[in-house]
Amino acid sequence: MTQVYNFSAGPAMMPKAVLEQAQKELLNWQGQGTSVMEVSHRGKLFMELIAEADKDFRQLFNIPDNYKILFLQGGARGQFAAIPMNLIGAKGKALYLNSGHWSGMAAKEARNFCEIDELNVTEKDENGVISITRTDFSDITEQYDYVHYCTNETITGVQFKEVPNVGNAVLVADMSSDILASRIDISKFGLIYAGAQKNLGPAGITIVIVREDLIGKARQATPSIWNYETQANADSMINTPPTFAWYLCSLVFKHLLAEGGLDTVEKRNQAKAEKLYQYLDNSTFYRNYIAKPNRSVMNVTFSTDNDELNAKFVAEATACGLQALKGHKVLGGMRASIYNAMPIEGVEALIAFMDKFAKENA
Ligand SMILES: *Cc1c(COP(=O)(O)O)cnc(C)c1O
Repeated sequence: MTQVYNFSAGPAMMPKAVLEQAQKELLNWQGQGTSVMEVSHRGKLFMELIAEADKDFRQLFNIPDNYKILFLQGGARGQFAAIPMNLIGAKGKALYLNSGHWSGMAAKEARNFCEIDELNVTEKDENGVISITRTDFSDITEQYDYVHYCTNETITGVQFKEVPNVGNAVLVADMSSDILASRIDISKFGLIYAGAQKNLGPAGITIVIVREDLIGKARQATPSIWNYETQANADSMINTPPTFAWYLCSLVFKHLLAEGGLDTVEKRNQAKAEKLYQYLDNSTFYRNYIAKPNRSVMNVTFSTDNDELNAKFVAEATACGLQALKGHKVLGGMRASIYNAMPIEGVEALIAFMDKFAKENA
């Protein structure tokens, strides 16, 4: 079989070493003679697993002690609703920064639960190049219970390279597609959330990192499964959790720690993205439409500006083992998602293919 590299935006590639370990212990986990899927989530061994996962994730992402880590269900979209239910307080209003599809979706959902102001923070210039226009909001944030933004817009590949300045306001971030991609200062955030299926593990589990003083303010009508206080007090287990997904995330954390932690991960991610963008910038055949300072390290979008050629590219790349390069339907073109699990060899194989395709079709 040809070497396959999977550029899927999500569910995305997992580290091979993690899949091999899961395979090895699938039928006999911890000497139990059963799989991890078939044991009680409240049993001693599974409770040990979640304690380890909390400890490892905390170490990996440098999460201070005054933050709780919740492992929930319902994806990032579930959090779009849970966040206003839990965080709207005396001010009664939140600010949503719109930098693309997902931050727009978060704002739309929040409108069902509270009053919001939505601020567009990107612009497209006359050449179609998208850039982030503003990162300092400290002069307008006092009136809001929180400010929400998306660190990395997965569809267009627009990423904030600095944390927006929101003054003393509570900052909430959707990090679904770039969590654990680099080191960040967690103390700047009130709440961080991410669906696991991009950079953490398989689909089915959602991580919420929430500062303790923000827990316990949910409105009366909040369903218990969406209430951060209820979940924090119950080890994220008020109902049966997705145990197998949790287990796989725990293996990913151990794997990243063994690789040298986020310093190593960040360097590798930078190297991969730089290679690909450099190739795009030197090419007259392909184009990327994101301003250099805002280009995503995780999702690299490009196009030949010809729908037929784009379709041919995707088909031929797939036949060569370079999978899932078709861009999101709202954008078209191509998208290479190069999350933590993508090795540099995958990016090199992609560039070699792009070069060959450009020469054959120019
Ligand atoms: C994928 C994605 C979502 C949606 O995640 P679900 O877990 O499917 O709800 C939200 N935000 C961002 C930034 C994403 O990449």
